[in-house]
Amino acid sequence: MSRSRLDPRLPEGPLGSAWQRTREGLALISPSNKRRLQVLVVGTGLAGSSAAATLAEQGYRVQVLTYHDSPRRAHSVAAQGGINAARNYAGDGDSVERLFRDTVRGGDFRAREAGCHRLAEISGAIIDQCVAQGVPFAREYGGLLAQRNFGGALVSRTFYARGQTGQQLLYGAVQALLRQVEAGRVELFTRREMLELISVEGVARGVVCRHRLSGELETFLADAVVLATGGYSNVFHLSTNAVQSNASAIWRAHCRGALFANPCFTQIHPTCIPSGDGDQSKLTLMSESLRNDGRLWLPLQPGDRRDPNSIPEAERDYFLERQYPTYGNMVPRDVASRRARELCLAGHGVGPSGRSVYLDLAEAIARDGKEAIESRYGNLLEMYARISGEDPTTTPLRIYPAPHYTMGGLWVDYHLMSTIPGLFVLGEANFSEHGANRLGASALMQGLADGYFIAPATITAWLADQPHPAVHAEHPACREARAAAAARIAALLVPAGDGPAGTGTGGAGRRPVELWHRQLGQLMIEACGISRQGGQLKSALLELEALRGRCAEELRVSDHGTANNPELEKALRLQDFLGLAELMLRDALAREESCGAHFRQEHQSADGEARRDDANFAHIAAWEHRPGAEPVRHSEPLSYSAIQPSQRNYR
Ligand SMILES: Cc1cc2nc3c(=O)[nH]c(=O)nc-3n(C[C@H](O)[C@H](O)[C@H](O)COP(=O)(O)OP(=O)(O)OC[C@H]3O[C@@H](n4cnc5c(N)ncnc54)[C@H](O)[C@@H]3O)c2cc1C
Repeated sequence: MSRSRLDPRLPEGPLGSAWQRTREGLALISPSNKRRLQVLVVGTGLAGSSAAATLAEQGYRVQVLTYHDSPRRAHSVAAQGGINAARNYAGDGDSVERLFRDTVRGGDFRAREAGCHRLAEISGAIIDQCVAQGVPFAREYGGLLAQRNFGGALVSRTFYARGQTGQQLLYGAVQALLRQVEAGRVELFTRREMLELISVEGVARGVVCRHRLSGELETFLADAVVLATGGYSNVFHLSTNAVQSNASAIWRAHCRGALFANPCFTQIHPTCIPSGDGDQSKLTLMSESLRNDGRLWLPLQPGDRRDPNSIPEAERDYFLERQYPTYGNMVPRDVASRRARELCLAGHGVGPSGRSVYLDLAEAIARDGKEAIESRYGNLLEMYARISGEDPTTTPLRIYPAPHYTMGGLWVDYHLMSTIPGLFVLGEANFSEHGANRLGASALMQGLADGYFIAPATITAWLADQPHPAVHAEHPACREARAAAAARIAALLVPAGDGPAGTGTGGAGRRPVELWHRQLGQLMIEACGISRQGGQLKSALLELEALRGRCAEELRVSDHGTANNPELEKALRLQDFLGLAELMLRDALAREESCGAHFRQEHQSADGEARRDDANFAHIAAWEHRPGAEPVRHSEPLSYSAIQPSQRNYR
């Protein structure tokens, strides 16, 4: 593959005005011509809904697909803590420049400077847009929007709606989308799961979907295709993501030629409710916002099993405050997760498995009162009490790191276009601006920046420059994509009674998909989780090869003769996770440095901090799929002009 295919199309000249200059140079399309153009958006999370609504508002004909029964069920609805914007309402010195620098530094200098700057610039407009839609952000007494502090920043720039920020933002975006459905400019197709990308002469022109109730394979065609299909943390099986979140859309696009960037950059969130037993299928996040008021600690004595409230102050280790006096409990997620895990491995961990640390609200309650803390974190505390059976206002919460977010994703250029022309990727599905570690409350900002502001401008520019030859569903490229999807489904199905899934007795088709997925998750979390090591990654690659071999032989699901087959859906998703897992391991092995959340044990400083290798790895890794052969690693060099790479120091 030539390097030119990896041209990020970064703007030249001063960073501060780069996006404005780019925008002003982008081609436009007249309203009457927009009506003739069709855009297909896969995904109705914050990125997809905001993009579809804005494109339709501009006059395009838009088709929107989601596998949910309602666009409002997209996983974005679960986002809790807040959304960042450089508004400085708190008067604590925030600015676009500071948000830009925090993002580049938080990502450990593995993100593009121009993209991070654009994100910081757009952040304020996102808040205006959402307020105009009626999103009920928390307010101060005087009426100004309230803000709180999140990890990796010394200012309070996180706007929130209790612990339900994602839900409120999504309702705003979906309302905007439904307005366009009502106006006849958006056609919404629910319960459709994308299984293949269609490209015609190298240009993305549509997708093949399976209708989840009828089982029918359908073809959707367009002049531009947008994937806003979310992240892939469920490759670890247990994660904070919705159980159905999966990687199939981006993985299938990757198999059709879209390069995959930094697949091993995944985020393990420090504050989740620890897993209970081996049968659990999902983990629950306790928002990072709790670290504003909660203090993390562990007993000084390893193996101390006393009730936390009976452990005196002098026998507690507020480990983040001790190790990072400047940022304290608000260090970035990668740092907090690593420290918690290390101390648990050293025997200080609490809870039945010894895999938990305390997050203690006692001091904040004594200072501000129980009512104030409950109003700040209300639903989070209720959720914790329901799941754990303990009252977090009287007993410290027990938390532990868990897979949460994926910084990796399909490679996109500054215009959010992948290496397949005409295929745009937004939100968590692209690799985007978070480098090797995303800062808290920056995902919602990025998804909405992509959807409301960037993609509508850049997709227009792309469409303006293109001929639009009509493609019919019987075009050979469409037939081939449908046949590929049909073949994958047929290969998985066995007649009912001939080894039904769910019996767990071994042999072809007799093991539920869930068990295969759990096995994959265990392999991945051990080898490619908070900490990674060369030898372990190599062994994991061999184990994975064996697991994939066994899956190819044995992974089958019952064909009950009914089209609605959730076990089949899981099996299709698992196959794609297996392919992606291999790429993640290869990527982690190839990146012989530690940076952000990618912590290679071989590359650390004397005090256990990540040691980057800027001479050899100051680049984005972008992987090319080759059917039947090893993938090829390409690289896009990163350079910095406004902020010089330095060792991150949160001490
Ligand atoms: C518990 C939790 C709390 C979080 N809290 C915060 C927070 O406070 N602040 C913050 O900034 N970030 C937070 N995040 C991260 C943030 O919520 C996500 O990164 C973001 O919402 C992703 O939005 P998205 O639009 O990219 O994708 P999603 O919201 O995941 O939407 C994906 C969409 O794609 C569709 N889709 C996927 N695959 C297919 C397919 N094959 N066919 C058809 N449709 C498909 C789905 O149906 C869905 O509509 C949190 C994450 C979690 C897990």
